[in-house]
Amino acid sequence: MKVLKFGGTSVGSAQRMKDVAKLICSDERKIVVLSAMSGTTNSLVEISDYLYKKNPDGANEVINKLALKYMGIVDELYATAEYKQKGKKLIQSHFDLIRSYTKDLFTLFEEKVILAQGELISTGLMNLYLNETGVNSILIPALDYMRTDKNAEPDLSFIKERLNLLLEEHPAADLFVTQGYICRNAYSEIDNLQRGGSDYTASLVGAAIHASEIQIWTDIDGMHNNDPRIVEHTSPVRHLNFDEAAELAYFGAKILHPTCILPAKLNNIPVRLLNTMQPEAPGTLISNETEKGKIKAVAAKDNIISIKIKSGRMLLATGFLRKVFEIFEKHQTPIDMVTTSEVGVSVTIDNRKRLEEIIDDLKKYGTVTVDDGLVIVCVVGDLEWDNVGFEAKIIYALKDIPVRMISYGGSNYNVSLLVKATDKKRALQALSNHLFNDKK
Ligand code: ASP
Ligand code: MG
Repeated sequence: MKVLKFGGTSVGSAQRMKDVAKLICSDERKIVVLSAMSGTTNSLVEISDYLYKKNPDGANEVINKLALKYMGIVDELYATAEYKQKGKKLIQSHFDLIRSYTKDLFTLFEEKVILAQGELISTGLMNLYLNETGVNSILIPALDYMRTDKNAEPDLSFIKERLNLLLEEHPAADLFVTQGYICRNAYSEIDNLQRGGSDYTASLVGAAIHASEIQIWTDIDGMHNNDPRIVEHTSPVRHLNFDEAAELAYFGAKILHPTCILPAKLNNIPVRLLNTMQPEAPGTLISNETEKGKIKAVAAKDNIISIKIKSGRMLLATGFLRKVFEIFEKHQTPIDMVTTSEVGVSVTIDNRKRLEEIIDDLKKYGTVTVDDGLVIVCVVGDLEWDNVGFEAKIIYALKDIPVRMISYGGSNYNVSLLVKATDKKRALQALSNHLFNDKK
């Protein structure tokens, strides 16, 4: 069985929902994971913000606008009076629940319930539409099988057992529809897998049922070899291995959420990125196979700060790096890049919440220099150290651009370079020209 996940834009209007319904109806049984319709989760966040700030009028304004939008969608989506009625009832019940939270104490718990409504609505609407058009589709509630443990990590054995039981209850179903993103936590409360988490749901579902393939449907024809919003002449990459895809997803390729990679990789389930607007395009296939000796793609991560700690005493000293890293751990700030020399170490972070405290603590061990306004440019491919020439190509492409840090050797799949944000576009374009478009 395959798992197909459709993102917010892919189900962003009544027409888009109808297009998705056409795509998912075939003889093969499948599980369809849906995000909330585009913009909905942001509106639900906005509603929660108003309620935290004890501003029910602000919240109600957003709620009314959103409810109106959904009533319009219902009118357009269904053909018969019977299903228009069912659709309206569905919307009504979800908005009644949202409105009930505008009157009382508002906490993290209520917020999680509000945030869950987007996926509950999109899947409810889609399932009704499929039923109206004669498809025997079954709604499998994510809240009945998707669960996280006490560490907020997916509870894999629970998910596997519960989901398979739920599927077995419906041997005659043509297809199954389920919500992305939402789950219950270890205390059975409604929770979620973090923003963008629907990809993660798809991957966890795929792993739980040993799917033959996980398809992530978006509105672009696969992972591109550079950011098409910034760089000219990018093209889709046909094949990536999981490690390459993980580096790209983490370092800024928006098409796939980084958490989605691991469950698929561990269970050896290929992930295919496909385009709802152009369903026949081949997209990108992500699997455990590596195409030898090829540089695949470039991505960039914004809002990076570099911190350099220079110690006169690092020479032959042991324990210096441990002390430095412990400071970042203490302040719960993950490090992205690291480079070292015999007298110092440079690291990058993108979370500046505890920057002041980190700098204060680091000053105990040496001279600290901070540079802000940087981006990490990451080049990904089969970059094993005994493949020759790729480092030279990358460095040559950036010959006119100041580079603050270079990191290679942490994996066989990536070279990371730190440049000024103001040079980002120039750097990405130069890399595309030299690595992919054969310009010298
Ligand atoms: N609807 C959620 C969000 O916007 C989850 C997702 O779309 O992946 O973050
Ligand atoms: Mg998404």
